[in-house]
Amino acid sequence: MKSRWSLIAFDMDGVLVDYTSSWTWVHDHFDIDNEETLLSYIQGRIDDMEFMRQDIKKWLDVKKDICRNDLETILEPVPIIDGISSTVDALQSSGAKVVIVSGGLDITAKQIANEHGFDDYIANSVECDPSGVLTGEGILRVDLTNKGAALRRFQQLYGIDEMSTVSIGNSFVDVSMFALSGLSIAFNPIDEHVKKNANIIINSKDIRDILPHILE
Ligand SMILES: [Mg+2]
Repeated sequence: MKSRWSLIAFDMDGVLVDYTSSWTWVHDHFDIDNEETLLSYIQGRIDDMEFMRQDIKKWLDVKKDICRNDLETILEPVPIIDGISSTVDALQSSGAKVVIVSGGLDITAKQIANEHGFDDYIANSVECDPSGVLTGEGILRVDLTNKGAALRRFQQLYGIDEMSTVSIGNSFVDVSMFALSGLSIAFNPIDEHVKKNANIIINSKDIRDILPHILE
């Protein structure tokens, strides 16, 4: 099937990952509550870097020599939504590039991107020293207050315009991607803002349910 859409950008946490977020998965593994940090961030008292720093510090307080390898092991069983591989296949067969744009952890983004054949991904990360131990700093590639900037990089990389772009997200942070897309899909939306700004709202346990709206 042919499609008028050339770039399909997926948010990861809550869309491809069937859990609140990859960060939250690690917090829950360590039995950590980051509600206060999250509130500080939402209220604008801390920025993205400080948000990551405070989250990582909580992990290091539990396990002081935690490595990227440990995080890979912790994140390995993170639940993912059904139908990703066939969705990516169908979209690529229609001629589109298929990418992940995530404020989540790149460990999970890389795993999903490789396993399911995405063209590329961009996500945030943790800084490690040469032996792989976390330094306590995050690596910011996707600013949650402007995910659209990360989407723009893919549009420029592939030479694809906004009107040929589809973005799929589940929360208010994805609205900045919607603003740069000809078609926006709120998938299992968690807030009113994302619903209000989406062209289509889908609630489903299977990501393949987006396909009829993209492929003609
Ligand atoms: Mg999300």
